[in-house]
Amino acid sequence: MGLGIDGDYRTRHNAAIRHCLTLLLLLLPCLAHAWNAAGHRLVAGIAWQQLSPPVQALIANTLRQHPDHERWQTRAKSSEPAAIFAEAAIWPDEIRNDPRFYDEARETPKPPVPGLPDHARHLNWHYMDVDRSGRVVSGQLERRLNELSLLLVANTETPRLAWALPWISHLVADIHQPLHVGHADDDGGTEFAIEDPFNPRLPFSSLHRYWDDLPGPPWLRGKRLDEAIARLLAEHTAPALGSVRQWREESHRLLATVVYPETTGTLLPIISQPFHQRAQKVSGRRLVDAGFRLCWLLERSLAPRVSRETQ
Ligand SMILES: [Zn+2]
Repeated sequence: MGLGIDGDYRTRHNAAIRHCLTLLLLLLPCLAHAWNAAGHRLVAGIAWQQLSPPVQALIANTLRQHPDHERWQTRAKSSEPAAIFAEAAIWPDEIRNDPRFYDEARETPKPPVPGLPDHARHLNWHYMDVDRSGRVVSGQLERRLNELSLLLVANTETPRLAWALPWISHLVADIHQPLHVGHADDDGGTEFAIEDPFNPRLPFSSLHRYWDDLPGPPWLRGKRLDEAIARLLAEHTAPALGSVRQWREESHRLLATVVYPETTGTLLPIISQPFHQRAQKVSGRRLVDAGFRLCWLLERSLAPRVSRETQ
């Protein structure tokens, strides 16, 4: 009996502490919404390596027309088209904090940004949350990715293409992050508190943030980025191409198997060594999948344009 009361007390005590930690998580600045910058550069870098030279040239010329091209050059400390393409893939995250852009769900439109056909932040394009019966509750990731792909195929004028390319690169990566097709009841893992002994700088975090940060440090660029790409390509083979819908379904299926750590018996779910190793492997696999598929999507969509422009 005594043990029962003690156990019961401990369970309630642990639940209360877990609740407090979850509340604390909600008060942290919302920095984590996507694979971090390293993840997006890795996906873009893998895609770039596989692209044909004419499509690379078309992308490089188009991105030169983007009003933020110079910023990307400054950040990359390079004018290499591959480095610019990698920085451009992070742009949909950067505009979250850029005062020239506006959140269309909460704000009235701001004055247009010269050279851009659209300057809304589109925060709900980065994810989709699904309820336990499989119904999409919020987010527009799959729909917008499909629309943007169609836009590439159409005879789109250069400014719109320059706006769409960073979005496509970014969203193909996002749809491969399992928690971007997450459960609505924990807000895609952002409300799922964890303890992460492998990250001394952030030992308490959310599961979503943990997965976002698996690809590496956000400053990963240059030679280290190239080395990381080579390591990933040595470890993982090219994926089946599939469709946007299949990429989304793959991500969602991973939630049931490898994405969530064990929750029983501890105060907070703790990231264990075996869990961490497996998560790193799955994260690498998803980045390679996204890189190859981004290349495929760009080749398929832009090849007709290349042949039109070289005629
Ligand atoms: Zn994103």
